[in-house]
Amino acid sequence: MQPHDLNSLFSNLLHQAADAVIVVDARGRIVLWNAAATTMFGYPESLALDADASRLVPERLSMDVERGIAAIVAIGTPPVSHVTLIARAADGREFPVEAALSVARSEDATYVAAIVRRVGERFRKLAHLRENERLLRDAEALAGMGSFEWTVGSDEITWSDQLARIYGYEPGAHPKTLAAFLERVHPDDREAVQKQIGRALDEGSSWSMEERIIRADTGEARVLASQVKALRDTQGNVVRLCGICHDVTEQRHAQEALAAAEARVRHTALHDPLTGLPNRDLVLDRLSGALGRASRGHTAAAVLLIDLDNFKIINDTIGHLAGDEILRTMARRLQGASRTSDTAARIGGDEFVMICEGVANDGETVALAQRLAAILAAPVVVGAQEFITTVSVGIAIGRGKEPPEQLLRDADLALYRAKQQGKNTIELFDELFRRNALDRVEVERDLRRALSNGEIEPYYQPIVAVETSNIVGYEALARWHHPERGLILPNDFLPIAEETHLIGAVGATVLRAACRQLAQWQQKHPRLTMAVNLSLRQLDGAFVHTVAELLHEFNIAPATLHVEVTESVLLDLQKSAVSHLNDIAGMGVRLGIDDFGTGYSSLLYLKRFPVRFLKIDRSFVNGLPDNQEDCAIVRAVAQLGTSLELTTIAEGVETAEQLRMLRQLGCRHAQGYYISRPLPARDCTNALDTTVEKVPVTD
Ligand code: C2E
Ligand code: MG
Ligand code: MG
Repeated sequence: MQPHDLNSLFSNLLHQAADAVIVVDARGRIVLWNAAATTMFGYPESLALDADASRLVPERLSMDVERGIAAIVAIGTPPVSHVTLIARAADGREFPVEAALSVARSEDATYVAAIVRRVGERFRKLAHLRENERLLRDAEALAGMGSFEWTVGSDEITWSDQLARIYGYEPGAHPKTLAAFLERVHPDDREAVQKQIGRALDEGSSWSMEERIIRADTGEARVLASQVKALRDTQGNVVRLCGICHDVTEQRHAQEALAAAEARVRHTALHDPLTGLPNRDLVLDRLSGALGRASRGHTAAAVLLIDLDNFKIINDTIGHLAGDEILRTMARRLQGASRTSDTAARIGGDEFVMICEGVANDGETVALAQRLAAILAAPVVVGAQEFITTVSVGIAIGRGKEPPEQLLRDADLALYRAKQQGKNTIELFDELFRRNALDRVEVERDLRRALSNGEIEPYYQPIVAVETSNIVGYEALARWHHPERGLILPNDFLPIAEETHLIGAVGATVLRAACRQLAQWQQKHPRLTMAVNLSLRQLDGAFVHTVAELLHEFNIAPATLHVEVTESVLLDLQKSAVSHLNDIAGMGVRLGIDDFGTGYSSLLYLKRFPVRFLKIDRSFVNGLPDNQEDCAIVRAVAQLGTSLELTTIAEGVETAEQLRMLRQLGCRHAQGYYISRPLPARDCTNALDTTVEKVPVTD
């Protein structure tokens, strides 16, 4: 294709284009005008060519267009690719347009090209929302890009009207010298602006930056985005600075609002809504930071996992609102007690965490936990009531090698052990503990095998009447005959059975064996009773069903089956569990409280549950006959039993003196090594058959 062919092709394209295409030279005179421009503005090409582009906008905006073009030519590139502005047709009609700007340069001239398109549709839609006049003003402001020029030699500044408007001046009243202009720049940004001007004067450099200015009329701070170019004379001296400015305050505010909203969302995602403390996710994050610092600084970070003892009961008794209040109080106390480097968090219903950095040693951490526990255990007043809730604490200390999740798990294991040791306790996770924890995996595997191999069977410990020393019944106590490890006692495998949900199977195995054994013994001793222990975690509908089935299968009088529940367990009971207990009692089976005196010893549950007997904890029997306090407690429980018609049974009787004292104190039944250790069934059968005389007679 020949050049003139190309030219005519372009010219055709240009004149067929749907958008107005207008090209102006450096002075703003129109040098190219297509057919669409004629349609849009109503000027034929002959009238448009060589005319000033400022004719294409309303008179009030013509200066802006002139300066805009000058600025674009000066800088050599349009500062924005699209501008929206108000155009004016030959007949005086005003309409909004969007112009896509570009710069073309030949050897000796610079041109600015604009592809202009009406944006009536968008604006019409907007006009529904805003009234017409406001819209036009907004459109004007949108179009308004202020421009300025500073002549270095004479220190003279000229501003476009739009720039004056941005600064809050009447047109023409703007600062005329650099010093006066700098007065308007926000004091905090002034130095940066001066620096740029200084560099431009020294090196002829251009710059773009955002600076705040103070409006002359309202005193309000606005954010301007400005682009400035230094112009040199033929000798290369910087003679002028010219530039364009945009008011971007609203955009910046919108960005800040967005950032604030994002921050709020982040906060919500990482904090507990009830107490405002960090949640588990944030704890893990903080913990990994703390561990990193610990490993770099050769120190340690401690995780204190804090659980409120018996919070569930309080919550159930006084209601959730009051429960929430207690949790909030605990959160405040915890936060009050933390140093700035510590993190206090809530990671579960009544579980709190404290991460402490830079701990020196185990002793210091335990002391810290003790201090915290004391602070948390202070009475909480809710409404007119006062509550005291003690805490159990599990501690794990990390030196930066372990992942944060593991440290939290270690603390959890320590907490579990603290709870097992009777609450209100502090436990430290240590290496030995970890080894035991590893053992657990093994134990769980073995336990599954044990259940199917029949390795678990109960031993039986006789219970005698204190008055006559006659055997009145037995307690079934689980034993595990491990093929390699020999006999394993309940405390060494029941907690794991509970955790791994195998407790139901273990309990059912013991219960079935005990019922079968009882039925067999009852053939000769029909009034003999059998007590089994019940763990909270095995108390479900299935257990109730099993009890009913076994009573039926072995034809046992329900009153001869006794079920022991430990006192601390009763405190934690859920509503469903209470109803299961009532179902069991409803069949005629007798319920009793094990380890009485070790829990909260509230008389509340003596009323809440259909209790028939109390087992006085071994720790009180231990002190007999010399410890006055223990004597008083055992006597009080015995009397309580008499007045409430509950049978009292003393556990852990190890000496003749203890048995004698129990008789004096009015306790009905006794059980303990002095009478007999727990034995396999066949050994008990012998004792039963050669009878009651075998039992040590108390003189
Ligand atoms: P417990 O129900 O309070 O049982 C009494 C514990 O004290 C038994 O320990 C028994 O061997 C021990 N004992 C009896 N007389 C004496 C004595 O004179 N001196 C001393 N020092 N101890 C004595 P054991 O068999 O190790 O059982 C521990 C606990 O495990 C039981 O406490 C009971 O809570 C639980 N347990 C045992 N078998 C089962 C079971 O089948 N199911 C459930 N859920 N728990 C069970
Ligand atoms: Mg028991
Ligand atoms: Mg007991």
